Amino acid sequence: MDITALSVSQIVSKIKTKELKAKDVVLTYLTNIDRLDSEIKAYLNVFHDYALKRAEEIDNNPNKKGLLLGVPVAVKDNISVKDFELTAGSKILKGYIAPFDATVIEKIKEEGAIIIGKTNLDEFAMGSSTENSAFFKTKNPVNTEYVPGGSSGGSAAAVKANETLIALGSDTGGSVRQPASFCGVVGLKPTYGRVSRYGLVAFGSSLDVIGPIGKSVEDVAITLSVISGFDLRDSTTAKVPVLNFETYLTGDIKGKKVGLIKEIQNFKIQPEVEEAFRKSLEIFEKNGAEIVEISMPHLKYALSVYYIVAPSEASANLARYDGVRYGFEGNADNLRDFYEDTRTKGFGSEVKRRILIGTFALSEGYYDQYYLKASKVRRIIFEEFKRAFEICDVILTPTSPTTAFRFGEKATPLEMYLSDVFTIPVNLAYLPAISVPFGVDSKGLPIGIQMIGKWFKEEELLNTAYVLQEEAKHV
Ligand code: GLN
Repeated sequence: MDITALSVSQIVSKIKTKELKAKDVVLTYLTNIDRLDSEIKAYLNVFHDYALKRAEEIDNNPNKKGLLLGVPVAVKDNISVKDFELTAGSKILKGYIAPFDATVIEKIKEEGAIIIGKTNLDEFAMGSSTENSAFFKTKNPVNTEYVPGGSSGGSAAAVKANETLIALGSDTGGSVRQPASFCGVVGLKPTYGRVSRYGLVAFGSSLDVIGPIGKSVEDVAITLSVISGFDLRDSTTAKVPVLNFETYLTGDIKGKKVGLIKEIQNFKIQPEVEEAFRKSLEIFEKNGAEIVEISMPHLKYALSVYYIVAPSEASANLARYDGVRYGFEGNADNLRDFYEDTRTKGFGSEVKRRILIGTFALSEGYYDQYYLKASKVRRIIFEEFKRAFEICDVILTPTSPTTAFRFGEKATPLEMYLSDVFTIPVNLAYLPAISVPFGVDSKGLPIGIQMIGKWFKEEELLNTAYVLQEEAKHV
């Protein structure tokens, strides 16, 4: 039996009927990691002993239940897993051992998941290629000369390379969807407030959300059901019912309205991505949906708004890394110099850039011009989405304007930022969105299509994504 070909629900049911041992599942994935990860470098830390021990516990327990029973899950290393190192891809956290589990980790453990390791990321999730990790670069398993995307590049690469079945990532401006698109896997950013952020290393607190990455919409839907829900420890979580999302994947989208943003033609898009996008629209029409044109004149400001809001929030969130409380310690004979030395040596250049921008944008005299202004435009973008969703059920865009790029290809930070033009507006508006692989370009690199859903309507969003996934099998 090819264990890596099994879906989440197949693994769970086979372990329940004892047709399959959790240990064999874990060993299969660990063997793949041993074989491939010296090249791919998706993992910062592999939990060999822990994962095998957990698998044995499951095999020896007569009470076999759980939506993720025996399913290997890789976790982006900005999510807290008790008793293991948590680095957020930064030198400043090196050596810090997490004293508690994030809420999502508690939840997946309760449902029988086996955490197989921690995956690489851009430092503090700031980046779009995983090249900003303080430790090493992760490669795209489709073609190792290309980046896997970011910041959850390790998570997407691990899924693609069959080094795990499911991975968790975090998405502040596209970090689950863009790497999923670059690696040819499925990545979901839930509605803000659907999933608890407790135990997620904070970047932009009004934008951050944890989301699943998997090989199929079904696997991602099951994982979403497990990690969702109101949490007393995160006051921004919403009291909305947690559905069994997988049961909504009927493939029936007749009469649904798919929004096409008129202004999308003003963005520079790789021709092959553009072509795949057009084809995906036709597919929805063929399946009985209606394409409706919507207008979002302020969409073009999303990137500028994000690069004020996200760094502002980051500059406040990252103030806590002072060398006293966590991980790496600098060297000096007085406190002020100690802080300075810790932060000079501990943070990488992209993180420093964001802290400087954020501190400036929030400073007295500039706050109104930058942060307040950006917040106002954010609100306008939110309203434009709201109006759009009065006439459509889901909005379609390419996930990223291009397929994966080569290492070092994006010479300036701004060029790198542009790879998130279509994902960032979604975070600004707190919406859910998913990236589904849809064909490849002439170099064989995966293309991703993004579907954006209504607030807390993940079931509809996932069903739309399911239609595209099934059709993609025939293109
Ligand atoms: N690439 C974007 C940034 O660098 C988004 C990152 C993310 O979603 N964590 O900020």
